[in-house]
Amino acid sequence: MAKTFIEGIAQKLRIIQNLDREDGSGNYGPLRKYPASEEWNEHIELDANAWPERVERKYSLVPTTCFNCESACGLLAYVDKETGQVSKFEGNPHHPGSRGRNCAKGPATINQIQDTERIMHPMRRVGARGNGGWERISWDEALDEISAKIRASLKTGAVDRVVYHVGRPGHEGFMNRVLRAWGVDGHNSHTNICSAGARTGYALWHKFDRPSPDHTNAKVILLTSSHLETGHYFNPHAQRILEGMMDGAKLIVIDPRLSNTAAMADHWLPTWPGSEPALFLAWAKMILERGLYDREFMETQVNWDDWMKAVHPDEACEFERFIELLIEEYAEYTPEFAAEECRIPVEQVIEAGEVVAGSGSRLCTHVWRSAAIGNLGGWQVSRTLHFLNVLTGSVGTVGGTAPNSWSKFKPELFDEPPDPDGWNELHFPPEYTLAHYEMSHILPHMIKEGRGSMDVYFTRVFNPVWTFPDGFSWMEMLQNEESVGCHIALTPTWNETAFFADYVLPMGHASERHDVNSYATSSGKWVAFRQPVLREYARREGREVEFTHEVNPGEVWEEDEFWNELSWRIDDGTMGIRQHFMSPYREGEKITIDEYYQYLFERVPGLPDAAAAEGTDALGYMRKHGAFLIEESTYKKYEKDGWPTPSGKQEFYSETMIEFGHPEHSIPHYRQKSHVHPDNLTGEDEYCLLPNFRLPQHIHSRSANAKWLVEIAHRNPIWIHPKDARRLGVAEGDLLKIETEIGWFVDKVWVTEGIKPGVVGCSHHIGRWRRSQDAGNRFLTNTVSIEDTGNGKMRMRTVSGIEPWKSDDPDTNRIWWRDGGVHQNITHAVQPDPISGAHCWLQKVRLSRPSEGEEYGDIEVDREKSFEYYKRWNKWAKDRETHPRGERRPLWMKRPLAPRKEHFIIGERD
Ligand code: SF4
Repeated sequence: MAKTFIEGIAQKLRIIQNLDREDGSGNYGPLRKYPASEEWNEHIELDANAWPERVERKYSLVPTTCFNCESACGLLAYVDKETGQVSKFEGNPHHPGSRGRNCAKGPATINQIQDTERIMHPMRRVGARGNGGWERISWDEALDEISAKIRASLKTGAVDRVVYHVGRPGHEGFMNRVLRAWGVDGHNSHTNICSAGARTGYALWHKFDRPSPDHTNAKVILLTSSHLETGHYFNPHAQRILEGMMDGAKLIVIDPRLSNTAAMADHWLPTWPGSEPALFLAWAKMILERGLYDREFMETQVNWDDWMKAVHPDEACEFERFIELLIEEYAEYTPEFAAEECRIPVEQVIEAGEVVAGSGSRLCTHVWRSAAIGNLGGWQVSRTLHFLNVLTGSVGTVGGTAPNSWSKFKPELFDEPPDPDGWNELHFPPEYTLAHYEMSHILPHMIKEGRGSMDVYFTRVFNPVWTFPDGFSWMEMLQNEESVGCHIALTPTWNETAFFADYVLPMGHASERHDVNSYATSSGKWVAFRQPVLREYARREGREVEFTHEVNPGEVWEEDEFWNELSWRIDDGTMGIRQHFMSPYREGEKITIDEYYQYLFERVPGLPDAAAAEGTDALGYMRKHGAFLIEESTYKKYEKDGWPTPSGKQEFYSETMIEFGHPEHSIPHYRQKSHVHPDNLTGEDEYCLLPNFRLPQHIHSRSANAKWLVEIAHRNPIWIHPKDARRLGVAEGDLLKIETEIGWFVDKVWVTEGIKPGVVGCSHHIGRWRRSQDAGNRFLTNTVSIEDTGNGKMRMRTVSGIEPWKSDDPDTNRIWWRDGGVHQNITHAVQPDPISGAHCWLQKVRLSRPSEGEEYGDIEVDREKSFEYYKRWNKWAKDRETHPRGERRPLWMKRPLAPRKEHFIIGERD
């Protein structure tokens, strides 16, 4: 495109850069968005800090991927050839998921790696665990000491006492392989406070437990809580939602809070939290009654005939009759019923319902965390939402929603150790038969009940003391050396959980580590390479590196090499572990990290050919481009592969639910009213607290050292509707005491019409803390005191807010914000859903003005109450515990790091 008259003048005045400069191929052309990849090792640009002087700087641009949420968007690290350091991050245009774009958290990686307070060396505890004393040790010491503890545990024959608990995952099979090599059922995750509710609902339909929406090609985009589009898969989804909308798609957002996405929607339905299934079933009924269902898809792909045979054996097993009976079955879900449950106008139910009903095969739906992880029965949200896709035949279509596995690359690894020979009941206790992931949020309570303990416990980029509910119970568990023999925190930055570790081992941020990523960000399939950029830069400069910590800041390492070295040292030559860490290329020698990725990338379909076309190998291609598109699109894979369910169909009717003791849930229904249903909020001062929405600038636990992000967002006031503020007699900035089932916290009020009356909101990410003896994250941490006031009661008070400090970074002395918010999560009781096992984040709270002496940021929690409250919810699962044929869980459903088949049968446990 030719430059405009104004641009011409601006260019002459040197207000903007030269739009006519050479494009690298000898031609002069328009401004490019990104440097061409041929120039990535010889990129020159002007130093912005030197302007108006024209000082050229030379860069080597090295691709990697962002580590700040799961999406793994592409980043390009600009390595300054003069300093040998990364000076900034921009998007990688070759990444098929992010296509050169990032959210604010991507470029802010530079803050994280330049954080003056980051952990640079392995640390070992001095004094009592949790007291804050540390000494620097070498990697050799750390490896020798930790491997000896693991060896001692494994030699007892235990398979459940060495545990790896992951917060931010992302290296595709690597860790499961390591745990299998050690022979332990030792994988734990954060998923039951995150996506387990949604996963259960999706898995009931088709085993696949995640949705992959094709926003770009949709006619209607239906988002159930926009949590995801502001926090999770944020950038890859957001850019495609915008494309879809620019192409005419209607956007419907269901969320009690006016999120950024809801503010852009054609229809914002602020439903009562937990009522969403009532709305979806009302829309399902509209689709059925108006004959707008996809007959072919329904008749051929859904197990409707199983329902007919089981529930209506006297009826003719014919599709037309099925539809008639289905309409009768759903007679109760009128628009009026949905409006009443959702607390929205009936006109809105009908208006948005007509948009959904008319979407045909281009209905693109999505739910991830928020609504499906909120309440008792939250898993019903995804089950009823997917029902809309089934009815409209928009499963796996252009503009529809597909199972994520169709778009996810699964690496082939160089060695597959055997499955663990045992079952860890601390992770999958027998009463949670349908829990889709490990029951991690009740771990401290199960240990307190005497159900087990751990010899060696790794937390990997995982901060449950802060991110999980009931953090004081986590502190109690971690401080008890009988419960946790040794706690090792693998983390790039100090956090509230690392304060209670025996070893803190510094792990790399995005540009300092190896991982392989593949996520369902659109209808295609891609693989990306998170590579340590200074290692690749060293290679380009002709320097060979053995371990990545040789080039990272300080002695920051990465897990992949760490696990290889640790595994090698655990084995004293008698344990058979080393055999799983041998080079596939060099007989009898230990594998190197380059060989690991070489082997993996050589087996990515199409990659070796693409590499050969560029005169390199598969690893060379990934080092150069950072990502590879395996398939352009992944639509309608069921036509070839079918559905991996017991019936081989989409399971409208679930025999599994009946067999496992929940016959009332045999088909999608709204049978379980939530614990925060208005019927359960009886007092004048009782409200529903919505505590699990994300701010788009923050990561759960790793953005407190990102100064750009913290400057934008650092408070978490209570969102309250003006009507409720009037009722409670509070105004903007006033204090409110929020009482949960096990304690309370005091927060400031933000009066806004962006929240539904009767519901109050508080963002997930703020309220970080450290005690006076702790280090790190001073951009976003209040200094607090913690006091055990007796009888299980714990008190936390803010001693001081955020303050500037002097460091090598002049910005640390320029901090202008003082308020670091309040740690609300710690006052939440655990609420494990008896079916999905997911934590139910929504809290029933009482609101009042604080009493005298109760100040902003004050927190109190009664741990005894929290233990009793856990038992109450746990009993609901025990009351319905059913094991058909002795099965611990449905054999056909997924289980992370599955043990040998015989351990799925409860009678055969050790
Ligand atoms: S959406 Fe943002 S935080 Fe997530 S990977 Fe992409 S750039 Fe990073």
